[in-house]
Amino acid sequence: MAHVEPIDGAICLKCGVPFSSKNSPNHLCSLCIKNKNSLDWIRSFFIYSDPIATLVKRLKYHGDSSCLNALLKLSKPHLIRLMEDIPFGSDGLLHKTCIIPVPLHPKRLKRRLFNQSLLIAKGLFDHVPICLDLVERDIDNPPQTSLSLSERKKNVRGVFKIKKLDGSKNFLLIDDVMTSGSTLNELARTLKNHGARGIAALTIARTV
Ligand SMILES: [Zn+2]
Repeated sequence: MAHVEPIDGAICLKCGVPFSSKNSPNHLCSLCIKNKNSLDWIRSFFIYSDPIATLVKRLKYHGDSSCLNALLKLSKPHLIRLMEDIPFGSDGLLHKTCIIPVPLHPKRLKRRLFNQSLLIAKGLFDHVPICLDLVERDIDNPPQTSLSLSERKKNVRGVFKIKKLDGSKNFLLIDDVMTSGSTLNELARTLKNHGARGIAALTIARTV
């Protein structure tokens, strides 16, 4: 049986991509040195491989709550370690920070009946407020699967709409899986255009 693969070696300080040489110190990857994106910090608990991938798919497409519980149980021991270096959480309380689970388009939410990112956010954080009415997905873009990186960026451009954003705040975006990061970056870009201050993102898993 496959084992979970936690991301616990050397990573990029900004986008969190794991480096192949596990023992080197954390540093910026070449992409983060070259490109400026709106996300200040991205971390994931695991590499997107089995059994994590199967648990995520069973949660997302079959609403299997035992898979949510298993993912939360596997993730929680890694949460404290990761949150220690969140750029605006040094007081340990995520001061002035609001959590935003990546929203689904209302049509997709109606079909699926739940937003897996919201379930994950609620399961991981019980002392940080979750903003549910701040941002919505205005455009039902086609799924990102099977698109190239540039197509993914284009596909999510302008899909989020800010409903209200009062004062400059920090935000922690939560999603199940990060693939290219296009969706998270687009959400962060939209928030920053509306005056958001620091934006970090946390996902259960990421592809490498
Ligand atoms: Zn990077």
